[in-house]
Formats: sequence, C-alpha cells, structure tokens
Amino acid sequence: MALDFRLSEEHLAVRESVRRLCREEVAPLVNDAEENEVFPRELFRLWGRLGLIGARYPADDGGAGLDKVADCIIREEMSAVCQGFASSWSAHSHLGIWPIWKAGTAAQKLRYFVPALAGEKIAGFGLSEPDGGSNVRALKTRATRVPGGWRLNGSKLYITNSPIADFVLIAARTRDELSIDAISLFIVEGNSPGFAVSRLKKEGIRSSETGLIHLDDVFVPDHLLLGEREGTYPLILESLSENRVGVAANSLGLARAALEASVAYAGQRLVGGKRIGDYQAVAHRLADMAADIEAARWLVYYGAWCVDQGQLTPDLAARVKLVASETAVRASESAIRIFGGAGIMREYPVGRIHRDALVYVIGEGTSDIQRNLIARGLGFKP
Ligand SMILES: Cc1cc2nc3c(=O)[nH]c(=O)nc-3n(C[C@H](O)[C@H](O)[C@H](O)COP(=O)(O)OP(=O)(O)OC[C@H]3O[C@@H](n4cnc5c(N)ncnc54)[C@H](O)[C@@H]3O)c2cc1C
Repeated sequence: MALDFRLSEEHLAVRESVRRLCREEVAPLVNDAEENEVFPRELFRLWGRLGLIGARYPADDGGAGLDKVADCIIREEMSAVCQGFASSWSAHSHLGIWPIWKAGTAAQKLRYFVPALAGEKIAGFGLSEPDGGSNVRALKTRATRVPGGWRLNGSKLYITNSPIADFVLIAARTRDELSIDAISLFIVEGNSPGFAVSRLKKEGIRSSETGLIHLDDVFVPDHLLLGEREGTYPLILESLSENRVGVAANSLGLARAALEASVAYAGQRLVGGKRIGDYQAVAHRLADMAADIEAARWLVYYGAWCVDQGQLTPDLAARVKLVASETAVRASESAIRIFGGAGIMREYPVGRIHRDALVYVIGEGTSDIQRNLIARGLGFKP
C-alpha cells in the first residue's frame, strides 16, 4: 500500500521542457497577441510538432501516450505565461477533439482528430447559446433531417477559436422534445455555406479568439454526425467533466503566476525604508495566497489522477474546478492589492492575470453551476 504524492521523472521532464518552451518561445508572443487580440496560429503547429496537443491521448491514436496528469502540467505551465493561449489550447486539444477521439468513426478521426493533434487543423466546440449557457439541456439549435444529411439552424455564443477554426463540434437538437437523447454532436467545417462567425471583443483572455456562430441552413452530411449516431449528449457531459479538471489546472497556473509576481514585487518595493513584504499585512496576504494555492494544487492533481484511474465523477470535477478557479480569482485580486497602484497599470502582469482568472469562474459552467452539482451529490435539488 503506497501513497506517493511525487510527480514521476517523466512528469518532471514534461514540466521542465514545457516551462522552457513557454519562457523562450511563447512568452515573446504574448504582448502583441494580447494587444491586437489575435491568436498566433503558428503556436498550434509548434505545439503539434512537439507532441503537446496529443500528450494525454494514447500512442496508438497518434498521441504521446502520457496521461491527464501530464496534460494538467502542460496547462499549468501555459497559463502561468498566457491564459489566452492556454484557453485556445483547451478548446482545441480537449473540447473540440476529445469527443471525436472517444466516439468518432475511423474516417472522422483520420480527417479531424489526427490533423488536429498535429496542429494542422484548429478545432472549436459549440455548446453555449444566446438564450443561456448554464442550461445546456434547453439548447435550441436544430438539426433537421434532409436527404443525405442534416440542415443546422441556430446560433452559438462565446465560442473559443470559432473565428479561426477549421471545424467546430456543434451540439444540436435532432428532435423538438426536451429529452437529452434528442441532442447530438455534428462536425461542422468552418467554410460550410451558411456558417458565419462574428468576432467578439473581450475583457479577459484577449489573445484567445472568441465568436458568435450563426448557423443558417448549414448542410452537414450524414458522415459528419459524430460517430454516425444520434443522442451523444452523455458524451458532452463526460467531456465537460474531464475538462473541468483541465481548466482547474489552467486556473492553478494563473494563481501561481499571481503569487510569483507578488513575491517578487513585495521583495523589491520599498516603502518607508522597508520591503513591503516585511509589513505584516502584506506578508499575511502572501501567506494566505500560498496556502490557498497549495490546497488547490493538491486537488487539481488528485482530480487528474482520478481521470487517469477512470474514477472521476461529475461531483469531484465540480469541486476541483470550483476550488481552483475561485483560488485564481482571489490570488490575482490579492496580487493587485499588493502591487498598489502598479497593480492597475498595464505594464505589470497582475491586472491581466485577474481579468483572465475571472473567465474560469464563468466558462465551463459558472461557479454556481459547480455548486449545484456538488449540492446534488449531497442530496439536494438546487
Ligand atoms: C471567454 C469565454 C469563452 C467561452 N468558450 C466557450 C466555448 O468554446 N464553447 C462553449 O460552448 N461555450 C463557451 N463559453 C460559454 C460559457 O460556457 C458560458 O458563458 C457559461 O456556461 C455561462 O453561461 P451564460 O454566459 O449564458 O450565463 P447564464 O447562464 O446566463 O448565467 C448568468 C448568471 O446566472 C447564474 N445561473 C444561471 N443558471 C443558474 C442555476 N441553475 N443555478 C444557479 N445560478 C444560475 C450563473 O451562475 C450566472 O451567474 C465561453 C465563455 C467565455 C466567457
């Protein structure tokens, strides 16, 4: 019986190499991308070439054959440098392709999953709609049967990567009734007639491109219904659960970046002849951040380990995401307070970290929705 909290040699090597990559090749791209709100597409090719997009997928399917722990290590490192880039990665490497890996036909995997792992095609995932992202069961986008395939009509809001995506997995209702087995996933190519995207301006993760998708009688052939079968809603829930652990790792990276920046600043900023970190108010704030982040770290990697053991439950995924994302918001707000006026200035990183951290108490299900899931596990019906 062993309880071993250490990362393996392989995990440590992944962390070291991704940390170096982020420092040397990714960090120099951040300022321009954030300023211009444009994602540098070449990053997908770079990540693909290095095998990072496929880290958690089996080698037999073209992945690197690592695990969810490795995926979370990569996410943490990426988010510590730029959450905008990391969000685009998340929508691509998990939300847009995990369902294809899990349930796609051989032809679908060959045409979409394999080039996506290489970073040659960019993926997105369209679930949320203008009438409500929290109540996904009530989604209105409609797929109507026509000879040879389906016609899709509706809209999808706040869809990451949609302005640059080669394809988007679209959730649509194949029957009018509200039952969940009437919801299916369709692979929709970005150049399909009737598929249009309006780019959105955001406060957070500005270097990740987000859009409103309009679906106006878009024809999707039978062979692009995911898995060539209707009723894939349970797959969406499974995918979201796993990705909640993933985005919790992203949040952890943001929280860590906020703490590191704060420790450095508190160590060199002198006020009244003293380093501000030597004032108890600031020191305690830093101590609370460090303790909070340590707790989130163990929960995130426990969640990742549960994914690898096939033991992740929706309840646990919600706890992991709730704790880590709220930690990142608290830590980045504390960082701004520690920086004082400098915290509000764009030349320092902590304002951006805070704006970015707020995205994950909303995206992938708001904190309220995570609390609902946890409360259901306690026997209540919020
Ligand atoms: C930057 C960004 C990127 C995104 N990327 C994607 C993407 O790639 N694909 C995708 O499909 N979606 C994406 N989303 C959408 C995201 O998942 C939704 O914004 C989120 O689920 C919340 O939905 P909503 O915005 O419609 O808020 P609403 O559902 O309108 O919620 C508004 C408020 O009401 C509360 N609320 C609603 N229902 C309940 C309830 N039952 N119990 C308690 N409180 C409730 C919420 O917690 C929230 O505070 C993205 C969002 C953002 C901000």
